[in-house]
Amino acid sequence: MFATMGALGLAPTAQAANREPVFHAPRASDFHLSGGKGAAKVVIVGGGIAGLAAAYELGKAGYDCTVLEARDRTGGRNFTVRGGDSTTDLYGNHQTARFSEGQYMNAGPARLPQWMVTLDYCRELGVPLEVFTNTNADAYLYNESAGMKGPMRYRTAKADMYGYVSELLAKATDKGALDRQLNAADQERLVEFLKDFGALGDKLDYTGGERRGFTTVPAAAGTPGVELGNVPSASEILSTGVGRYFSFEFGYDQAMLMFQPVGGMDQIPKALTRAIGAHKIRTGAAVTRITDKAQGVSVTYTQGGRTRQIEADYCIGALPPNILAKIPHNLGAGVQTALEAIKPQSAGKIGLEYASRWWELDHRIYGGITETDLDVTHIWHPSYGFHGERGVMIGYYNYDTDADSYAKLSPADREKRAVAAGVKIYGPKYRTELASSFSHHWRQTPHLEAAWHDTVGGPDAPVYKPLNEGTGRVYFAGDWLSYTDAWQHGAFTSARKAVTALHARVLA
Ligand SMILES: Cc1cc2nc3c(=O)[nH]c(=O)nc-3n(C[C@H](O)[C@H](O)[C@H](O)COP(=O)(O)OP(=O)(O)OC[C@H]3O[C@@H](n4cnc5c(N)ncnc54)[C@H](O)[C@@H]3O)c2cc1C
Repeated sequence: MFATMGALGLAPTAQAANREPVFHAPRASDFHLSGGKGAAKVVIVGGGIAGLAAAYELGKAGYDCTVLEARDRTGGRNFTVRGGDSTTDLYGNHQTARFSEGQYMNAGPARLPQWMVTLDYCRELGVPLEVFTNTNADAYLYNESAGMKGPMRYRTAKADMYGYVSELLAKATDKGALDRQLNAADQERLVEFLKDFGALGDKLDYTGGERRGFTTVPAAAGTPGVELGNVPSASEILSTGVGRYFSFEFGYDQAMLMFQPVGGMDQIPKALTRAIGAHKIRTGAAVTRITDKAQGVSVTYTQGGRTRQIEADYCIGALPPNILAKIPHNLGAGVQTALEAIKPQSAGKIGLEYASRWWELDHRIYGGITETDLDVTHIWHPSYGFHGERGVMIGYYNYDTDADSYAKLSPADREKRAVAAGVKIYGPKYRTELASSFSHHWRQTPHLEAAWHDTVGGPDAPVYKPLNEGTGRVYFAGDWLSYTDAWQHGAFTSARKAVTALHARVLA
């Protein structure tokens, strides 16, 4: 009977049980329902996306929220660098960005998939979006260790790899290799698909074709175009290793279309800050102790060289776990063990401002990513300001040991090394057109000391129970408590979870 009711939509189905619980932002009216109880006072530690989202959602219901943020600006890892912005890293490197007016680099988050809740916040907060080009057929692939003499266009590499894989599978099918797996009709359908997918001829051979690109593009009558020559053999294309890059675009979190806020990713924390009310956010306020008491929470922080204390009914710890683990608290050994189980990870980026957009003019590349096996890993072409006078390329976006080794260099040496790598792919303009650079390494950033975190065992592992459920009057939020670590979606959804639990408790 229960199953029948489910089918009729009168009872929850198994499918519904697996769905993410619908988030209902706390509303002021909730308190009238609970007999006139007032909203509580909440102190939120950390003004990154998770902390700001928590303050924003609780603020809708009239909670008295105060956000304490250690840095001089909100946003946390959501950091857009513009001309005049300064940083000092934990090695003591001081940099001031010299980017020109209108130019910027997103040092942290830069792209947004369509399915993430971040887009809903952009809509709600009035943050305009534009397309972010995550894959571009005209960007390059370059594997130096495979002996590639120069870069290959993404489209060319893809045509050759797909072509030969299709040829091999089609011929194997033709020779009966799949007789046990597929009946004759399905084999025929498969071969039809492969002929189309790999651009194969009637004899099931891959011989190149226009998908690879042209040396002279087709134009007016009399100019049919000249296709790229020198089609490599299957063995040659396999030996370049370019095939490893094609699954990227299949990723649920990386597939096009993707988006970015117009004018820089920090338009999101800026809009949240405005919506919360800047007067409710104390910047330059580094929390030094969290004390859970029977009737409330006491949070100690330093601001402007003075030690201060704030009392509240509840606290949300929305700071990185590796930082929180170093802050004295009385939340118990379970909380400390959980925090220490989460491992901080490295990543770095360098923004290279150029005096001309030579990659558009000379290489016909408008946005997208060049993939390499060099220590710069990814090189990004800007997805804004097309045809403008100048532009900022991301000269490296690397992780782990590559990021750590760049971080150890002075900013000038980071630039030198990144440019030397880029010249191998793009030629001399990568050096001669360079106007200025700014590099940022997250493991060496004060108050963060991580790009993202490895929540070992997954966020639902039993060790994280005291963090997921909250301990005493303290709740926790951050992308590290989600299945989408290293995405703002994780920060937003974990903040919603903490807010929901806190609000339910207040109402109860
Ligand atoms: C290189 C890089 C690329 C990324 N790419 C993407 C992307 O393309 N798209 C995307 O959506 N996401 C991306 N992310 C992930 C995204 O930045 C994070 O998921 C999100 O910003 C995390 O927000 P948070 O509030 O959980 O944490 P954080 O941003 O770490 O916020 C924590 C806050 O706590 C503050 N704090 C620390 N100590 C104290 C203290 N003692 N007292 C008070 N405050 C303190 C910190 O200063 C900080 O503001 C990327 C991140 C990086 C680093």
